[in-house]
Amino acid sequence: MSTSERARELLAPDVRDRRRNQESEKRRQRSQGQRRIGVMGGTFDPIHHGHLVAASEVMDRFNLEQVVFVPAATQPFKAGREVAPAEHRYLMTVIATASNNRFTVSRVDIDRGGLSYTYETLRQLHEEDPEVEWYFITGADALESILEWKNAPELFELAHIIGVTRPGHVLGKAELPADSVSLLEIPALAISSSDCRERIRTGKPIWYLVPDGVVQYIEKYGLYR
Ligand code: ATP
Ligand code: MG
Repeated sequence: MSTSERARELLAPDVRDRRRNQESEKRRQRSQGQRRIGVMGGTFDPIHHGHLVAASEVMDRFNLEQVVFVPAATQPFKAGREVAPAEHRYLMTVIATASNNRFTVSRVDIDRGGLSYTYETLRQLHEEDPEVEWYFITGADALESILEWKNAPELFELAHIIGVTRPGHVLGKAELPADSVSLLEIPALAISSSDCRERIRTGKPIWYLVPDGVVQYIEKYGLYR
């Protein structure tokens, strides 16, 4: 008996069944040549547990084999705002995701530079791996403006859009193409990067709002003071 088989024997029957279903669903997708990968775009200034829980929930519910975090160079709606240097945001994202072997970080937006339009991110990922079914994960606040994003109609062709709930934002489906947008309620974590930055500026702790390594990285480089 392999270690994973033995581990499964120890699990409660409902968990075991769910694992089995997920595994057979994954095998089915692979045998059809379809791989499902999530994309979580953001400024990640800094990355926090709200981002990580959202990615983890979507990965579980949509049977994704992995989630790629894509830190933006400049987020179009945040142009003109002061943001930590891209390399710091990239490295904090790497640190935050390092312990999960199904989370990865992509430099596509940072290396392309300029304004990071989701359409261009997805087109580039799609060109690199045309066989993959892409799932773009975004918060409810961002979803509200998705129709104003660059090339919105093409965006829906490149990826399924998964809108995740965020405390303080009620999701409305109005006008969004129902077949390409799904909504998912995730355990509410009232954490935002803005609040983390404000806490640091005013000397309040950010422990447990962001991964430990990110707290230490911010301290080491004196970010957000
Ligand atoms: P800021 O406060 O600076 O806007 P943020 O916390 O919203 O930062 P972003 O990098 O802008 O972080 O977010 C990237 C994506 O993650 C967005 O789609 C956003 O809606 C989503 N998101 C952010 N925080 C949460 C949260 N606590 N729960 C669910 N989704 C979140
Ligand atoms: Mg935001």
